[in-house]
Amino acid sequence: MKTALFSTKSYDREYFSQCNIDVKHSLTYFEESLNVNTAELTKGYEAVCVFVNDKLDKHIIDKLSENGVKLIALRCAGFNNVDLKAAFENNIKIVRVPAYSPQAVAEHTVALILTLNRKTHKAYNRIREGNFSVEKLIGFNLFNKTVGVIGTGKIGIAFCEIMLGFGCKILAYDIIESDILKMKGVVYKSVEEILADADIISLHCPLTPQTNHIIDREAFSKMKKGAMLINTSRGALIKTSDAIDALKNEQLGYLGIDVYEQEEKLFFRDLSENIIQDDILLRLIGFPNVLVTAHQGFLTKEALDQIAVTTLKNISTIEDGECSENEVKHESGKN
Ligand code: NAD
Repeated sequence: MKTALFSTKSYDREYFSQCNIDVKHSLTYFEESLNVNTAELTKGYEAVCVFVNDKLDKHIIDKLSENGVKLIALRCAGFNNVDLKAAFENNIKIVRVPAYSPQAVAEHTVALILTLNRKTHKAYNRIREGNFSVEKLIGFNLFNKTVGVIGTGKIGIAFCEIMLGFGCKILAYDIIESDILKMKGVVYKSVEEILADADIISLHCPLTPQTNHIIDREAFSKMKKGAMLINTSRGALIKTSDAIDALKNEQLGYLGIDVYEQEEKLFFRDLSENIIQDDILLRLIGFPNVLVTAHQGFLTKEALDQIAVTTLKNISTIEDGECSENEVKHESGKN
């Protein structure tokens, strides 16, 4: 299928081109995101392939339809960035990659926890400057700590399994409980109970109207003083301005985020020579107990390979007029 890929980076081009050798779709790579200014580029394409920060609102989707686009192939799991209603009204199908490597994101979550806790990023910089002092690098044992997990789908399960290996006690909340995790000793509790008891809280639920700002001022006030909060899911699960207040009054002890509410203006770009205008992010970066990574949880060789393989297969399935198990239905609601 003639497909325009937006927001592509060198690694997207490498993995998609490699996986497309046998599949032979006609792929055109654009570095630009899909937005009002670039929607015109879709003329003549049957499919667009987009990523997490391409915002496909009604206006863009109407334009895609006008240009003859019949398929939106998301090369990610979440679909909160697509106006599903507008797509279905325009008879445009949507496919996604529901699972490419839950371990990739789960392992990055653990990397954030270990870095914040054992301060290896600070030690690395100290040693490079000939500073071999270990003052102020005190961490805590993960063994026997209580970890709260909100969202125990594919990534949440993979994360729980790793943390069980550290000897942590796991409390979880999900609208659908996992029997596998229960058998492994994970205990399901309410969000309130998790906030009150967990030393580390990790978010693995999708962004929906129900989970938007699930961690806000009230939630911070219910947490254990000095708790660690990790978000590798979607930025708007946390109300960032409230997180800043919680860090300032030391209610929140550590914050590790791979996603950020306003990330689409920043992440995946080299802005090192620019004046960053986002004062909230700059305030966050200024805290010694905050670690921000720019949405790289998915970035492993295995995940990139699986994303390309599944996306190209999704496109082939729709091209062949078959039903794809990875199709997003309108009833799925906002993710
Ligand atoms: P999944 O669909 O397998 O699991 C999501 C879980 O959240 C499900 O068990 C679901 O029941 C639960 N859930 C839904 N609504 C909830 C609610 N209101 N409260 C509590 N739980 C709720 O998805 P997944 O593959 O585990 O991915 C989880 C999220 O991780 C995705 O939605 C995406 O936002 C994010 N993600 C991030 C990266 C990254 O690079 N950082 C990569 C992939 C996915």
